[in-house]
Amino acid sequence: MTIDEKFMKKAIHQARRAAALGEIPIGCVIVCDGKVIARGFNQRLHKHSTLAHAELEAIDRASRKLGDWRLEGCTMYVTLEPCQMCSGALVQSRIDRVVIGTMNPKAGCAGSLLNILQMPQFNHQVEITYGVCEKECSAVLTDFFADLRVRVKEEKAARKAAETASLVRMRSEAGTEPPASADPSEKKPQKSEENP
Ligand SMILES: [Zn+2]
Repeated sequence: MTIDEKFMKKAIHQARRAAALGEIPIGCVIVCDGKVIARGFNQRLHKHSTLAHAELEAIDRASRKLGDWRLEGCTMYVTLEPCQMCSGALVQSRIDRVVIGTMNPKAGCAGSLLNILQMPQFNHQVEITYGVCEKECSAVLTDFFADLRVRVKEEKAARKAAETASLVRMRSEAGTEPPASADPSEKKPQKSEENP
């Protein structure tokens, strides 16, 4: 395992912490002199904050730890290509290098839509390494969204079943219809077979 892979695994661990909270799993670590000095994972939902991206959390912690807003000599390992906000903050922090797990073609600003990290017009450019532990970084995200789709589907089905049950109960209590058998929900399994 290379040094980059070793630190990216730690970033992936942070991404999993986000997933455990139901947040989109993006994680990062900042390394200085061969040591992790700050960690961050996406907490946008829990903190009700646009700013609670993994990268900004870690930049803030690293600056506190070093007692300096400048992160010269540091490297960030991040599981997903940074957005425009985080890429801007990384340039502002004067960080030396960013190592990226997987790209974000829809919103990434470190090479996909833009490359804010390496614009010659700015006074600082960041060295970038792409594709470290790419499969694993990508799988963390795809697994999360697959689980989410299953969960949403199950919740929808449970809600529907509860609604149907209460409707049947109401009708039965009101004596307007015979219970259960006459309910339209009986037809539904057939429908779902036709349209899986
Ligand atoms: Zn961001």
